[in-house]
Amino acid sequence: MHFADLGLSDELLRAVTEAGYSEPTPIQAAAIPQVQMMRDLIAIAQTGTGKTASFVLPMIDILAHGRARARMPRTLILEPTRELAAQVAENFEKYGKYHKLSMALLIGGVQMGDQVKALEKGVDVLIATPGRLMDLFERGKILLTGCTMLVIDEADRMLDMGFIPDIETICTKLPTNRQTLLFSATMPPPIKKLADKFLSNPKSVEVARPASANINITQRLVKVTERGKRDLLVDMLHGFADPTAIIFCNRKTMVRDLAKQLQRAGFAVSEIHGDMDQPSRLKELERFKAGDINILVASDVAARGLDIKGVSHVINYDTPWHPDDYVHRIGRTGRAGAKGDAYTFVTDKDVEAIESVQKLIGTKIDWAQIGDAVRHAEKAEKPAAARDKRTAKRDDASRAPSKTTKAAATPAPKSEPKATKPAKRAPKDDLDGPDDGWNGPMPGFLDFRFDR
Ligand code: ADP
Ligand code: MG
Repeated sequence: MHFADLGLSDELLRAVTEAGYSEPTPIQAAAIPQVQMMRDLIAIAQTGTGKTASFVLPMIDILAHGRARARMPRTLILEPTRELAAQVAENFEKYGKYHKLSMALLIGGVQMGDQVKALEKGVDVLIATPGRLMDLFERGKILLTGCTMLVIDEADRMLDMGFIPDIETICTKLPTNRQTLLFSATMPPPIKKLADKFLSNPKSVEVARPASANINITQRLVKVTERGKRDLLVDMLHGFADPTAIIFCNRKTMVRDLAKQLQRAGFAVSEIHGDMDQPSRLKELERFKAGDINILVASDVAARGLDIKGVSHVINYDTPWHPDDYVHRIGRTGRAGAKGDAYTFVTDKDVEAIESVQKLIGTKIDWAQIGDAVRHAEKAEKPAAARDKRTAKRDDASRAPSKTTKAAATPAPKSEPKATKPAKRAPKDDLDGPDDGWNGPMPGFLDFRFDR
């Protein structure tokens, strides 16, 4: 199938061709006709399958007719994070370059003066995070009664971030005869409930198993001790030929510490997590996209759904606590048909978590053969343990040094480590959650430039 078979306008086809796409992805082929027919839609497809264009393309053609009225956006797209919102805006610019559409971006952490001005003039598309939108709504700055289309993107992420109540409220502010599109990688029960409540007679389209992982990604587990992680990582990074890598940690503090340590070790590193303000997050992302740095240390909230081309490696420095996060993390590589490698560090404490991951994706992940790197990690462990006995005592990994060291020295363990305790959760404020803080009025959408 070609894009031309989808009945898109010539202007749109030109923009799509210039973006370098010849064929629609399966989810695009399935979803676009439904959107064009004005149906409500539930679209489920794993991350990296092109869900964004599934709604952006038909929306552009629909919006080409008619014009915006003051304070009343014609369509609304909800995104869970600032980065995803900015990315969708970028998609509108790319595909809508031959259309004259107006857009506003309402995201936390950036001033909003110009966005509010744009809204007052009237916009065709409003792209927003739920928290920021609610805030503006409560200030009476915006009317959603003219919104004829609502897109709830990355719905499972919205759920993780606690945005479902906000979304429910937002849904009640829109006209009931609107068209509603819901996109998600997975369909947990609360999302199903949301869809039942706010979509009318929706068409469901689904490609591949929910939460199944991309076949272009080679996945490996790496047995390691908590103390051996850093040296192992450094060795692995040295061992990869010219990597562009994202390293995920479960805690924000770990993101910061690890980025510093890697910097000291001479790598071109940056970090991204929910404690950074929006301009710095976007700036770091741009540096990574542009290749100024080739290693990005990230937390889940900051990097989920991000579309960065050419990521060769994803390393889960910590086994994620939520199996869904695993799928989203490794989905940062192997995008748009490219191949990628995903490594997950597994300590004795992660046995349960990695089992949940394997259950979700429906396959066992093989153990890596990283002999040299692993042996190095073993060496590094001893002096560290000797240096500070008190820390060593507190560190679970060093409680049975001979046992764990031996396990780490084996390049490819045949069996998984034995279960000890379930993974402990970090203190709440160290976890990266929704932080859609209002920082006052802000620069216009046009200040966001993603051109390279
Ligand atoms: P998702 O939302 O499903 O995670 P995205 O919409 O972010 O995925 O798209 C993933 C990547 O695929 C992006 O780099 C996008 O530019 C690319 N892409 C989208 N549609 C196509 C297509 N038809 N052909 C090739 N690449 C595409
Ligand atoms: Mg997406």
